[in-house]
Amino acid sequence: MKHFGIYIHWPFCESKCPYCDFNSHVEESIDEGRWLAAYLSELNRYANTTSKRTVTSIFFGGGTPSLMGSETLGEIIKAISDRWNLWKNAEITLEANPSSAEKNKFIEFKQNGVTRLSLGVQSLDEDSLLFLGRKHSVSEAKEAAVVASEVFDRFSLDVIYGLPGQSPTKWKRELAEILKLVTTHISAYQLTIEPGTQFYRDKVNTGGEAVEKKMFDYTYDLLEKKNLNAYEISNFAKPGHECLHNCTYWTGDDYLGIGPGSHGRITKSDFNYLGLETYATLGIKSPKKWLENVEEKGSGDLRTSKLKPSERIDELIICGLRMAKGLDTGKFFSQTGISLYDVINKEKLLTFKERGWVKQNKDTLFLTHKGRNFLNYLAVDLLA
Ligand code: SF4
Repeated sequence: MKHFGIYIHWPFCESKCPYCDFNSHVEESIDEGRWLAAYLSELNRYANTTSKRTVTSIFFGGGTPSLMGSETLGEIIKAISDRWNLWKNAEITLEANPSSAEKNKFIEFKQNGVTRLSLGVQSLDEDSLLFLGRKHSVSEAKEAAVVASEVFDRFSLDVIYGLPGQSPTKWKRELAEILKLVTTHISAYQLTIEPGTQFYRDKVNTGGEAVEKKMFDYTYDLLEKKNLNAYEISNFAKPGHECLHNCTYWTGDDYLGIGPGSHGRITKSDFNYLGLETYATLGIKSPKKWLENVEEKGSGDLRTSKLKPSERIDELIICGLRMAKGLDTGKFFSQTGISLYDVINKEKLLTFKERGWVKQNKDTLFLTHKGRNFLNYLAVDLLA
């Protein structure tokens, strides 16, 4: 089955975390009714051209979409199932923070259609939570994780490591605590300092490359031992618990991006899959402008552009190599009309194979654990 996802971006948070470069904003008051009407309007617009597809996943991201009322969320899910064929096993994920107000809504979210919760715990250390600007405490994080595991069969914890001054020993202790709360899916991200963030302005440093590599290797080894496989560079899951929606991105399948600043990918027609007819959509970044444009002009798009063959090839290779199963050469051909080995640098491929960074089998090209440490550099070089 070809995957087709719908991403809904809720751009508001209670406060702005100093490391965050997502399109998230703090507003004193939000007219949720106006926002719901705008999401429904955008869904209608896209349904005109894509309603024959089967929706395999919906992802509410942000911002903090769990600040939305559960009825609002339920209306959006209903609107999708009215306009598209919503697969009976569709994965419907909601990102949430561990505040008690949000925790108390988990059951309502489930009753309104959410099937999977991604909980932004980030750390189980009070000082680290403070440093990361999070509003919850360790005990709130633990309580929310317990409730999430009771309410949802599928849930994930988001954590961040590689903080300045965080030693590998400290991270080991924290990871052991995290594993007491979740056994099926963990997203573990290394702290990066992105331009435009408070940390960037404050010239905050991360833990340093050598320490981060140690933590990455330890995380990978321990979670694999617990049968949480690193199916993607920062994502670990028991078989069957992988995030279907994110896999849709990484394997180059189509998805709609609804909401301020959201990205989408749409192939022109299921019958014209060969020939690189893939369009990239991008929503207007400012929430206010996005909302006004949807209301006044009937579209929140900043632009829709046909991807150049080279752009499509680059993103398929860069995203595909993030996954443990790697790039499926047959699928790559069906998506581009070109053989993978005709577009990658053969000399570099040989070098990386000799270094033990890359492996090939009959139908796939994938990175080894060692190679994953060099993902960005390696993907760029293979495309040179
Ligand atoms: S809660 Fe998440 S989206 Fe909101 S500011 Fe913090 S990191 Fe960004």
